[in-house]
Amino acid sequence: MRTLVTGGTRGIGAAVARRLAADGHDLVLGYARDDAAASRTASACRELDVSCTTVRGDLTTDAGIEALFAEAGELTGVVNNAGATLHLGPLAATPSDVVRATVDLNLTSALLVARAAVQALGRSYGGSGGVLVNISSGAATLGSPGEYVQYAAAKAGVDALTLGLAQEVAGDGVRVVGVAPGIIETSIHADAGEPGRVQRVGPLVPIGRAGLPDEVANAVAWLLCDEASYVTGTTLRVAGGR
Ligand code: NDP
Repeated sequence: MRTLVTGGTRGIGAAVARRLAADGHDLVLGYARDDAAASRTASACRELDVSCTTVRGDLTTDAGIEALFAEAGELTGVVNNAGATLHLGPLAATPSDVVRATVDLNLTSALLVARAAVQALGRSYGGSGGVLVNISSGAATLGSPGEYVQYAAAKAGVDALTLGLAQEVAGDGVRVVGVAPGIIETSIHADAGEPGRVQRVGPLVPIGRAGLPDEVANAVAWLLCDEASYVTGTTLRVAGGR
């Protein structure tokens, strides 16, 4: 097993990487700029006796996506995870460049990574078949009014990507599935300008708390393995009932 995880060096992606390393996957981890986090996560994975390569590059560029997949070589799985909310506030008060950047990273890049994944995994392209997991968000079905409608809309697009692409490539030995996390304890919230978001929103979740990156990683690991062999074209919500 050899799996590529975009945004695999921090937060949910790093938890996925550590969990897959424990399951015996060799890893290729993409990231944008945080070299220290990349080095930490790669070391933790290598301690579990798997190979782990990190590739720095911006997935909002064609060159970034091409370099990542060129480095990856043969794969059995891809976790399409890199994303960011970027900004908090109502759409009417959100600048155009923020709206465009949010859709560019969370939807356009997800589509282009998914296309590259199918070309790496699909039997008609010389791959051995495999699984693509798209990381969506509970925001896709909540709409996230007052917070980030543009991000919610982009993630709803990711759910459509999962549904449609799964049907296109089912005959090519590729399953396409999604995971939609609810609020998870990572630095994505502080990066968007609300460091206290986990404390504010956690108690509103039916389970009574925010989720942990490892709880998302467990779902991703299951969807990647053969126990999920008849699961494709669907998105699993990992959101504490929210
Ligand atoms: P983090 O901010 O913790 O990590 C994001 C990762 O993506 C980092 O490795 C980062 O690299 C990488 N990344 C960001 N932008 C780019 C880019 N342009 N090119 C390449 N890599 C990039 O985020 P989370 O772990 O919280 O989120 C992971 C996924 O889960 C995202 O898709 C997010 O939308 C989704 N999600 C998160 C939720 C949450 O509450 N945390 C809830 C629902 C969905 P670097 O470290 O170099 O910056």
